[in-house]
Amino acid sequence: MIDISKQSVKIDCPECKRSISVTIKQVADEALVKCSCGQGIQLQDSNGTNKKEIKDINKSFKDLENTFKKLGR
Ligand SMILES: [Zn+2]
Repeated sequence: MIDISKQSVKIDCPECKRSISVTIKQVADEALVKCSCGQGIQLQDSNGTNKKEIKDINKSFKDLENTFKKLGR
């Protein structure tokens, strides 16, 4: 099954402006990531948006999967 939370997104380091790749799950979990310059970045999931999206998108994939299963019969 496809899990959208494993998809990565790019964020910019506020210190050195380098782009850092983080997973959507890390954003949803509001993880603290570290840039290669040593700057720590606190990820923020405002109003739980990413958590909700992961849930919604995973549900969509599941629905799609079920549809394919039905078609394969
Ligand atoms: Zn940096």
